[in-house]
Amino acid sequence: MDACPVAPRRVAPCSILLAPHETNTMPSRQPLSSTFITRPEQLAHALAIPLEPLQAVHAHYPLRISAYYLQLIKQHGLPLWKQAVPDLKELNDSSGLVDPLDEENLSPVPCLVHKYPDRALFLVCSECAMYCRFCTRKRKVGKPDMVINDQTIAAGLEYLARTPAITDVLVSGGDPFMLPLSRLEQILKALRAIPSVVTIRIGTRVPCTLPSRVTLRLAAMLKKYHPLYINTHFNHPAEITPEAALACGRLADAGIPLGCQTVLLRGVNDSPETIKMLMRQLLRIRVKPYYLFQADLTRGTSHFRTTIETGVDIMRQLIGHVSGMAVPTYALDAPGGGGKIPLTPHYINSLGKTLEFTTYRHLPCSYPNEIIP
Ligand SMILES: *Cc1c(COP(=O)(O)O)cnc(C)c1O
Ligand code: SF4
Repeated sequence: MDACPVAPRRVAPCSILLAPHETNTMPSRQPLSSTFITRPEQLAHALAIPLEPLQAVHAHYPLRISAYYLQLIKQHGLPLWKQAVPDLKELNDSSGLVDPLDEENLSPVPCLVHKYPDRALFLVCSECAMYCRFCTRKRKVGKPDMVINDQTIAAGLEYLARTPAITDVLVSGGDPFMLPLSRLEQILKALRAIPSVVTIRIGTRVPCTLPSRVTLRLAAMLKKYHPLYINTHFNHPAEITPEAALACGRLADAGIPLGCQTVLLRGVNDSPETIKMLMRQLLRIRVKPYYLFQADLTRGTSHFRTTIETGVDIMRQLIGHVSGMAVPTYALDAPGGGGKIPLTPHYINSLGKTLEFTTYRHLPCSYPNEIIP
């Protein structure tokens, strides 16, 4: 296997683009240098904003925005802008935790997180099509010190092979869809060769941030490794474009069930109307909302966090009011690695010989809670 290339931070174009014969003609074919913005100078110029703040943030955290997503930012403004454009607030956050989910301590081998009994998170690529400013793995994703190479992949595979309790492997990163197709296939093939691995899940934001990368060839390759699930990541209705719909349709047509892991973000999607519209639009492009995450305590992201009340209020306005298919689980990933905890509005008032509860329309109701002999 070739090494997963780590793009030098200040060099564009990205070194891991598909070879020309692997590209798809969905949007008009562009020269490589126009596919991504990676340097502060490029972004300052593209958005007509001051260079110095971008440089200051870029000295600590990487920058990458696809030409596709830049267009969306220009059309839709702040909710997408905030997700992608470096902000000085990232440097003025002493409250956060560098590794909020304690992933490094839960890694028996580098780049594999084993937190739950039957599943593991396998980090196979250090790069993404966009470096989201709110990323939970901001400490390492896209940075030169996130080392993923043949050795870490081999060590991860070897750990999975000798830990048969793990039946569900989450292939993530970074973004696995940023790997060359052949390398991703090698990894999937190696996972499939482990008898105890039953389901493979891929976590990818590419359908949202660089949908042209979801080619028919990619879908045809993935199809060989069922049962395969994909969880993608959309945060705003403006991200649901015809291009994103085509990308998700290709994956769905390959028989891959698609879920979405949205993050609740202040100033991006923290209103019931926005989340409701997003969840409905996801179903329309064949993606089933899976999680709505409370933002993690990641250092450099505190300006994105909402209160829990904001999230619970949004869930109250979803549950019962929209198709159950459109309702994700609102969850908090416990600081320190305790796992995901569902945060659900209270419907139960008391539980004894009867269950006293309130309906989604705020009406009192009860249910006899007894076994009839
Ligand atoms: C989120 C996560 C999983 C998967 O959790 P599910 O609730 O099954 O989606 C597995 N391992 C780690 C380390 C995780 O963070
Ligand atoms: S795509 Fe995911 S892993 Fe990559 S920067 Fe965004 S949130 Fe982080």
